[in-house]
Amino acid sequence: MDYYEILGVEKNASKDDIKKAFRQKARQYHPDVNKAPDAAEKFKEIGKAYETLSDDNKREIYDRYGEDGLSNAGFNPNSFNMGDIDLSDIFSSFFGGGFGGFSGGYERNPNAPERGDDLRLDIEIDFLEACFGLEKDIKIRHLEACEECNSTGMDKNAKDSICPTCNGAGRVQKSTQTILGSFTSVTTCPHCRGTGKNPKAFCKKCHGVGAIEKEKNIKIKIPHGIEHGSKMRVANEGNAGKNGGRCGDLYVVIHVKPSKEFARNGFDIYSELEISCLQAILGDEAMVKTIHGESPVKIPQGTQNEDRITLKGQGVPYLGSDSQKGNHYITIKVVIPKKLSQQEEKLYRELFVLSKQQTKNQDGILDKMKSALGK
Ligand SMILES: [Zn+2]
Ligand SMILES: [Zn+2]
Repeated sequence: MDYYEILGVEKNASKDDIKKAFRQKARQYHPDVNKAPDAAEKFKEIGKAYETLSDDNKREIYDRYGEDGLSNAGFNPNSFNMGDIDLSDIFSSFFGGGFGGFSGGYERNPNAPERGDDLRLDIEIDFLEACFGLEKDIKIRHLEACEECNSTGMDKNAKDSICPTCNGAGRVQKSTQTILGSFTSVTTCPHCRGTGKNPKAFCKKCHGVGAIEKEKNIKIKIPHGIEHGSKMRVANEGNAGKNGGRCGDLYVVIHVKPSKEFARNGFDIYSELEISCLQAILGDEAMVKTIHGESPVKIPQGTQNEDRITLKGQGVPYLGSDSQKGNHYITIKVVIPKKLSQQEEKLYRELFVLSKQQTKNQDGILDKMKSALGK
């Protein structure tokens, strides 16, 4: 079917002409006005044509590639429904504004395209896996479009797919007699709950939902440098959309197990190194564990407790960069021996006596200086 023909306009019709033509046709075929059995279907076609031709972007695609082009571009030409149109706009002039049932009593259209829900999955990875990244197989559960019915929710072979109560409009008119006269109100069709679809013709597999829950294994690539609490978006792995709406996304939340040896802040690694007081006094070399393996460090002579040694570029590879890495900071913990061997004690005592003499000598020099200054 040709959208221009449906609206009865020329191929080069202006936006205004299209709007005018649509309003006229919509009033003519609206199922609340037109009781012909095919009025609802006609009305949908009109809406569909208008929805496309009133949108410059969609109209261009349609002109070039037709209806198939629209679905290839991600639009669903069948997504149109009456609820997409502001009915008060169409009917205000027709009913002289005295028809309150449409604008006031209009609910959200159950057949409008609806994006699928986003899903969240929490996974735990090791400290080093977070530093260096990994490929991980994860198992997810989500709603997938029902293949049996092409996600329409309707049995392909069913004859009466349109709700017999409302003729597919999703709403029914009710007349109430009052002393002021007869009032007409429009309510959601109780038989189809406003979908316009016949529940008897629902797809046997998905029972009208258009989607079924499925378990699926997917592989995700966790980049190096990822941090605890990061969220990774996996596009289109959320739940399937409704009425041709697109899929939701899956968000994988990363939990990083803490490490016994290392602490991490951003891309920097922190650890502690215990050394003896002799190593601190005299200086030494030691091997330390980094996330990249063992690395030698030089302990300078006279190292103090809590001093920090930096291993440049031995930290975590930056997220999104293959060349840059953080640093590894080592905090020195000087350990004082609690027990000494006899020989150790003897040597320490000699050192002790020596250091006392040094202090005395210093005192002597001070005395001499004082007397020289005449104090
Ligand atoms: Zn109905
Ligand atoms: Zn189905």
